[in-house]
Amino acid sequence: MGRQLAGRGGLAAAGWLVLALVASGCASSQPQPVPAPEAAELPAAAADARAASLATAYAAARSDGLDRRQFQPEDYWALLLPVLEQAPDRFQVSEIGRSIEGRPLRRIDFGRGDTTVLLWSQMHGNESTASRAIVDILRYLVANADDEMVARIESELAITIVPVLNPDGAARFVRHNAVGIDINRDAKRLATPEGRALKAVRDSIDADWGFNLHDQNVRTRLGSSGRDVRIALLAPPPGSGKTSPANQAARRMCSFLADAMAPIVGDQVARYDESFNPRAFGDLMTSWGTAVVLIESGGELDDPDKERLRRANFLGILSALDAVATGRWQHSSPERYLNLPLNSPWVYDLLVRGASIVLPGREPVLADFAVNFDDTLAASGGAIVEVGDLEVTSALEEFDATGLYFVPSPRVLGPELGPYLRIGTDAVGVLARDPEGTDIVKRLGPES
Ligand SMILES: [Zn+2]
Repeated sequence: MGRQLAGRGGLAAAGWLVLALVASGCASSQPQPVPAPEAAELPAAAADARAASLATAYAAARSDGLDRRQFQPEDYWALLLPVLEQAPDRFQVSEIGRSIEGRPLRRIDFGRGDTTVLLWSQMHGNESTASRAIVDILRYLVANADDEMVARIESELAITIVPVLNPDGAARFVRHNAVGIDINRDAKRLATPEGRALKAVRDSIDADWGFNLHDQNVRTRLGSSGRDVRIALLAPPPGSGKTSPANQAARRMCSFLADAMAPIVGDQVARYDESFNPRAFGDLMTSWGTAVVLIESGGELDDPDKERLRRANFLGILSALDAVATGRWQHSSPERYLNLPLNSPWVYDLLVRGASIVLPGREPVLADFAVNFDDTLAASGGAIVEVGDLEVTSALEEFDATGLYFVPSPRVLGPELGPYLRIGTDAVGVLARDPEGTDIVKRLGPES
C-alpha cells in the first residue's frame, strides 16, 4: 500500500497515465484509504486511443473454439492450458479442488506485485461470457509480455483467476451445480466443494480486489427505457444499508468500468440491485474486506452468442486491471456508477397476439399468450406464462397471429388435466391457418 508508481520504467509513454499521476502525486493500487476524487478525468482522446488499441488487439487475442456460449469444461481447459504452457515462468496453474462430479477446479496465477486481485467466472454454469473473455485476456497477456500495459499489470499485481467455477453446471449449461445448489447462495454455508474452493482461494491471497463475473437475464431492461442492458455493474454492500472503504473503492471501479466499456456497450450499462444478500459471494467478500465488483453481461437478440459482450469483457477487465495497477480507478467518481439507470423488471420473451387457441373438445377461443424461455437467446425451453387479453403487456419479440389458430401439442396438454392450457405448460405447438394445425405458419418448440 502507498507504493510510489513514479519512476518506474516505461511509464512516460502512456500520456493519460502521466496526467493521472500528475494529478494524484502518487497512486495507491490497493483499495483503501480512498482519497477525495480529483478532476483529472481521462482525456477522451487518450481513452479512445487505448480502447482503439485494445480493440485492434482483440482481433488477435480472440480464441477460436469458444464460438458458442455452451461448451464442455474439458474443451475449455484443452484450449487454455496450452496457451499458458507457452509462458510457464509467468503463468502458474494449480488445482484447487474438484466439483461434485470430480471435474478439476483450477486457479491461474499471474504477476509478481503486492496488490492481490481475484477474478472468478461461471459460478452459474450457463453464464459463460466472461469465461470466454478470460481465455482471450490470457492469450493477450501471454503474447504481449513486452507491452507497456501488460508489464505494468504484471509488476504491480498478483492476479488469481478461477474460470468456470461450476464445471458440472457448465457441462449441462444450467445455473446450478450437480446437486442443484446455487453456488452463489453458498458463501456462508459452504456446503459445496465449488464454494469452499473459492472461499479458500480468496482467503489464501487475502484478495484486495474481486471481480465476480456473471451473465444476467436477457429480459432485464435498462431503467424505464425499455432498451437492452448490455452490462450491469454492482459494488455489493458489506451489509444491509452499509458501505465500507472497500465498497467505496468498488463503486469507483464500477464508474471506471462504465467508461472503459462504453466504446463497445455505449450507454446501455445498468446498475444492479444493491440489496445485501448474506449468502452471496460478492456481498460476503466485500464484508471480508475485498473490493468486489460484479460484472453482469446482459444480452441482445441480434447477438445470440454474445460476441459483442465477450469483447466488452475483454476491454473492461483488462482496463480494470490496468486501473488497479496504476491507481487510475481513484479518479472515477462514484456518482457515475450511482447515477446509472437501474436494472428494471423483466418483460416477457415472446408475445403471440390475436390467435385462437384450439383445445380438444372445445370451441377455439381468442387469446393472446406470452412465453418465457429458459434460454432467451436460444429460444429454447419455452413455457406459457400468461394467457388472455394481453393488450398492455410487452415482450422482447411479438408475433401478430391475427386470424391464425394456436394448436398446442397434445403431448404438453397431458391426459390428466384435460384440455386446459395451464400456466407453466411447455410452449410447444403450431400457429396455423386452420384449426387442425396442418397449414403451419410458425412452430413453437421442438417438432413433436
Ligand atoms: Zn450469475
